[in-house]
Amino acid sequence: MEIPEDRLLGAQGNGFAQVFAGLNPERIVVAYMAVGFGHYALDIASSYARDRKVWGVPIGAHQGIAHPMAIAKINVELAELISSKAAWLFDNGYDASESANIAKFQGADAALAALDQSIQTLGGNGMSSEFGLADFWGVVRLYKTAPISREMILNFISQHSLGLPRSY
Ligand SMILES: Cc1cc2nc3c(=O)[nH]c(=O)nc-3n(C[C@H](O)[C@H](O)[C@H](O)COP(=O)(O)OP(=O)(O)OC[C@H]3O[C@@H](n4cnc5c(N)ncnc54)[C@H](O)[C@@H]3O)c2cc1C
Repeated sequence: MEIPEDRLLGAQGNGFAQVFAGLNPERIVVAYMAVGFGHYALDIASSYARDRKVWGVPIGAHQGIAHPMAIAKINVELAELISSKAAWLFDNGYDASESANIAKFQGADAALAALDQSIQTLGGNGMSSEFGLADFWGVVRLYKTAPISREMILNFISQHSLGLPRSY
């Protein structure tokens, strides 16, 4: 398909560099998307855990329910914090590659753990479409693989942050 000249991004003949320029912001955006899913799932689950009573007690009163949710909340907040650092670095023209990779890694793991615990908190309702949590499993699980797999992030951090030999 022909593209008008005024739609050219960057310099002509240097297309691959334009693709690379998009990798860090893509990781930051995906990290924020994961953070959003994590908050959303925990909002539903904490509301449910306050209301749902089993043998006269709200299930959220049990530390077996509350503590895993609290840990999930901490990890989602940490993911948001590193995502904000990465976004700030990128927006201000600094090298955001380390932070963007850490944000995507932490966001994906935190969101999936938060979603998993939220499904668990809802018991059988965790699988029901009315509450919508299980419906998100596929997309949130995807973030461990795309837009970059967690293994390639670990390769990046090993090589560029820790100065270890390139492994691939
Ligand atoms: C729905 C979907 C959307 C996607 N969207 C994007 C996108 O927007 N942007 C984008 O850039 N990419 C995107 N991807 C591609 C994604 O980045 C790749 O699927 C991912 O990097 C894994 O590459 P692969 O599928 O070729 O698997 P392979 O390269 O065959 O890897 C298979 C497994 O081996 C691991 N592995 C491979 N090499 C090494 C190594 N040297 N050390 C350790 N482990 C290794 C991988 O991490 C993975 O777990 C998307 C993929 C999917 C499925």
